[in-house]
Amino acid sequence: MDLFQMPISNLSGVSNARLMYFQKLGIFSVGDLLYFFPKSYENRMNQKYVAELSDEESATLTVRILDVASRRVRQNLTLVQVMAEDDTGTLKLTFFNQKYLLTSLKAGQEITVFGKVNRRIGYFEMTNPSIQKASKGGNFSENFIPKYPLTKGLTQGVMQKIVADGLVQAKEHIEETLSMDIRQRYCLCELLYALENIHFPTGEEELQAAKKRLAFEELFYLMLGLKKLKLQQKKMAGPKLVNYKIAEEFAKKLPFGLTNAQKRVTREICNDFKQGYQMNRLVQGDVGSGKTMVAAMAMLICAKSGYQAVLMAPTEILARQHFEGLKTYFEEFGVSVELLVSSMKKKEKTSVLTGLSEGNVSLVIGTHALIYDTVQFQKLGLVITDEQHRFGVKARSRLTEKGENPHCLVMTATPIPRTLALIIYGDLDVSVIDELPAGRIPVATRIADETKREKVYEFVAKELAKGNQAFVVCPLIEESEALDAENAIRLQEELQKTYLRDYRIGLLHGKMKADEKDSVMNQFANGDYDVLVSTTVVEVGVNVPNATVMVIENAERFGLASLHQLRGRVGRGQKKSYCFLNLADEKARKRLEIMEKTIDGFQISEFDLKHRGPGEFFGTRQHGLPSMKLSNLSYTMETVRLAKEATEQVLSEDSELELPKNKRLRKAVQKMFSEHSYVNQL
Ligand code: ADP
Ligand code: MG
Repeated sequence: MDLFQMPISNLSGVSNARLMYFQKLGIFSVGDLLYFFPKSYENRMNQKYVAELSDEESATLTVRILDVASRRVRQNLTLVQVMAEDDTGTLKLTFFNQKYLLTSLKAGQEITVFGKVNRRIGYFEMTNPSIQKASKGGNFSENFIPKYPLTKGLTQGVMQKIVADGLVQAKEHIEETLSMDIRQRYCLCELLYALENIHFPTGEEELQAAKKRLAFEELFYLMLGLKKLKLQQKKMAGPKLVNYKIAEEFAKKLPFGLTNAQKRVTREICNDFKQGYQMNRLVQGDVGSGKTMVAAMAMLICAKSGYQAVLMAPTEILARQHFEGLKTYFEEFGVSVELLVSSMKKKEKTSVLTGLSEGNVSLVIGTHALIYDTVQFQKLGLVITDEQHRFGVKARSRLTEKGENPHCLVMTATPIPRTLALIIYGDLDVSVIDELPAGRIPVATRIADETKREKVYEFVAKELAKGNQAFVVCPLIEESEALDAENAIRLQEELQKTYLRDYRIGLLHGKMKADEKDSVMNQFANGDYDVLVSTTVVEVGVNVPNATVMVIENAERFGLASLHQLRGRVGRGQKKSYCFLNLADEKARKRLEIMEKTIDGFQISEFDLKHRGPGEFFGTRQHGLPSMKLSNLSYTMETVRLAKEATEQVLSEDSELELPKNKRLRKAVQKMFSEHSYVNQL
């Protein structure tokens, strides 16, 4: 029986009332349950409360520290004495010659201790116990207790029992997906063993073996699925777009010459158009590398070949900016282009929709509003998504479904190290714009601690006095737009009252309505504001060449990729530009120093990869990928490399995964991609 067909309601302890909580966690089947991994572990060998202890017993307790003191008993004997308690009683901990504990243990902390207890009058005492900060998870060599990322309504104890029962029930049904050959070559344990030990490790080594196997498995399925998709797509007939001479004429009309990288990537796209197969291409190019022009040429070729094209941007501001920037160029070539965003009046929208479905409108630029069913094309030939990391694969495919295998171009300014790009974008061909337009002056970047904050704003004021403009960005405090908005409002008020009182300060945040945002952004672009205080809304692609300063408050709260994106908002004109990373937490300085050293996004992402591992890149940044179940930390570059090697080896022998020995593997890959609209193709 298939694990993912076994309902969890069969397990003891899963009442109807509890079923709902499991569903909230995305757990429907026993398979889902076994692949719901702990976030950490605690050693709880003989876990007890103080009131349950008996004299001379070895036990583990979790207690709160009340007081820490030290006492020198004689020349070479110092005692550290800790008074602690749980809800049931008092525990005294005595350490011999471990003075360093004085600095690491503090009143109020919760710790887990393991050792032998002695009964005293009114309390228990433990001498030289092993200790562990309670939240840390297991470092003890045996008996790990899993801690799951639960929702309200389920306790760790209940979950543990149910998982244990799940493992017993599933035992006979767990099917090994990796061949003996692969397991041996890469030293991977069996699936059953891995699942047992990821939930209830018998020791540290066993836990590591389980993680290694499961991380490998996950990356392997992912790469197999993406690679297979790519092989399949290569065979899909696509519109033949032939009028690529028009791109040259377009380039002649620009006030600047295209960079070599822009030309190369445009050629790569034209080659795809000629083939007669559907194009699935990613254009990776750093902020300001001029991706828009490449997209524009592709759109024009498409229109001049008798097809329609669509460009989708993640925000209305950006969509409008693309539209305004490209409209006149397109119209010069007699190509009709329209904007479609949700804030437009119904009448305007209807007219665009009619134009598209009847084929009178060749090109459309817009936002998510484009994916609705009401948007129909007469003959869609090309779908372009800008800043594609902001969209799921679903949004993209809902657009492509509006035509017959239209060509797909996705553009991203999030540089990903080459080694990973080939994997993460495994279903796409990758083009790289690795050259900035000539004459760009690198943005000078400085990290500033709190003592320098005043200096930073004095500098900003000087720039403003010259007629330049500035961005000030404040970070995401919570996952809440309301709080972010408040934060931005306060910052605007502060600056208006203090350092920047002589200047006009605009405000932009996620709680504002689309048209409000738009009007503020436009006012800033037109120079009606000197300063724009903003949340990260401003991150994506906005172009204001007169802005020469960017201040990022609480820079420590941002990842390097975001900082790089934000910084890309300045230095887009001919003037020297500056970026200040204001720190409230000095500890972050080391991590951010790379920002002072380079403006090359690829270099920054390589640095990120080296220091934080590849997990990040598979997680939050890539909304398009199937979700990965293991924590980011479990992926290493080594695992990535091995999984890639195995993928190539398996597909070279059996590109469709049709051989009987690959049957389970195929099923596992399909399962991983099953929440994705492209599953049908696998
Ligand atoms: P991004 O790759 O970040 O989307 P854009 O397409 O917005 O970059 O281009 C950034 C700026 O550079 C725009 O003002 C654009 O007009 C300009 N630009 C694009 N290509 C060139 C070029 N070859 N030479 C000079 N400026 C260019
Ligand atoms: Mg852009």
